[in-house]
Amino acid sequence: MVKAFLDKHGVPYDNIDVSEDSDAAKKMIEISGQRGVPVIVVDDEVIVGFDSTRLSELFNETAPVDIYDILIVGAGPAGLTAGVYCSRKMLNTLIISENIGGQALQSWAIENYMGYRMITGEDLMKKFEDQISTLNIRIELDRVVGISKEDGFFTVRTISENTLKAKALILTQGNRAKKLGVANEEQYLGRGLSICSTCDGPLYKGKKVAVVGGGNSALQTAVEMSEIAQSVQLIVRSTIKADPVYVKMLASKNNIIVHQNSHVTAIYGDKFLSAVSIMNESGEEQKIDLDGVFIEIGWQPNTDILDGFVALNEKKEIIIDVNCHTSMAGVFAAGDVTSVKGKQIIIAAGDGAKAALEAHEYLMKMESQ
Ligand SMILES: Cc1cc2nc3c(=O)[nH]c(=O)nc-3n(C[C@H](O)[C@H](O)[C@H](O)COP(=O)(O)OP(=O)(O)OC[C@H]3O[C@@H](n4cnc5c(N)ncnc54)[C@H](O)[C@@H]3O)c2cc1C
Repeated sequence: MVKAFLDKHGVPYDNIDVSEDSDAAKKMIEISGQRGVPVIVVDDEVIVGFDSTRLSELFNETAPVDIYDILIVGAGPAGLTAGVYCSRKMLNTLIISENIGGQALQSWAIENYMGYRMITGEDLMKKFEDQISTLNIRIELDRVVGISKEDGFFTVRTISENTLKAKALILTQGNRAKKLGVANEEQYLGRGLSICSTCDGPLYKGKKVAVVGGGNSALQTAVEMSEIAQSVQLIVRSTIKADPVYVKMLASKNNIIVHQNSHVTAIYGDKFLSAVSIMNESGEEQKIDLDGVFIEIGWQPNTDILDGFVALNEKKEIIIDVNCHTSMAGVFAAGDVTSVKGKQIIIAAGDGAKAALEAHEYLMKMESQ
């Protein structure tokens, strides 16, 4: 996200991969006081994470004030595909997203996207991005904080205090990781507690880590971390519910210790996380010394920005029909943020295309009235 932002604004930078350079990793922890990436140093200022507001302030981003035909929220597989279809229909389109690539960026091996036997999420999303960069589409890296309809136009407000208007909307803002719900959790995020093993995993080389969760993502992370870390404790609230391929991989690793029917009750540490307590179904508690914990307990849809704007189901997903229409005329949705059960790249991309075609038809009808 940071690299995409700096490239977009023509800002030169040095990229230091702290997973490859342990001295740089130490320096990064020292100057930022935490272990998460990215850390950006602009002159003397240290910025932790992709702080789009601060970066926009530093590099003077100005937002256009046009009325777009279509505004797409999110640039994951669904949003980027919708963008390609909108551009091919010659629609004046804006994509607003916190990053380019979405959750797919976190996958280290995608084996079910047609056309590729195996590709990393980063490589696949780079191909999506390359394709969209050749088209006439504006992409703003920003966070949407509110959506409304005013004077017949959809109005989108962002955290950078931009207000953008469009005749139709496509919502593709995906999902985000669920948290553990224990005290101190926020304090240790980036200080030993991580929701992105792909981003932070290499910083735990030779360390003792835990992975919380019992689904595909948790097992995938545990297996990946078993090759980097000294030991991995897999903490599963009930029992493992993952595809046989991951269960088999887990069984082949001798440095993964599995705790089923157990949940995290407390996090300990000073500046950095140093241990967690887990409780089993009999109520017995044990404290485990750790350097890092990766949370992999599922996802929740990014629909809190909608605040009653369109109808949601009991899981807070946007309800759509088979053609990606939401409960409000002119608003379409696609991908993981919707009520469609399959949460996969190919499904998100396919529905992104459907949403764009429907939005185009909606605009054509509007114009002919
Ligand atoms: C570790 C991991 C491994 C996976 N492996 C596979 C796999 O092998 N095969 C497969 O098919 N699928 C896999 N998936 C699932 C796949 O990544 C998702 O189904 C897919 O990315 C969903 O696409 P999407 O566009 O709907 O949403 P997302 O990918 O979630 O994209 C949503 C976009 O919206 C942006 N956004 C969110 N909220 C806001 C806001 N308020 N303002 C602005 N922007 C916002 C986000 O930054 C993001 O860019 C994996 C997922 C994970 C996490």
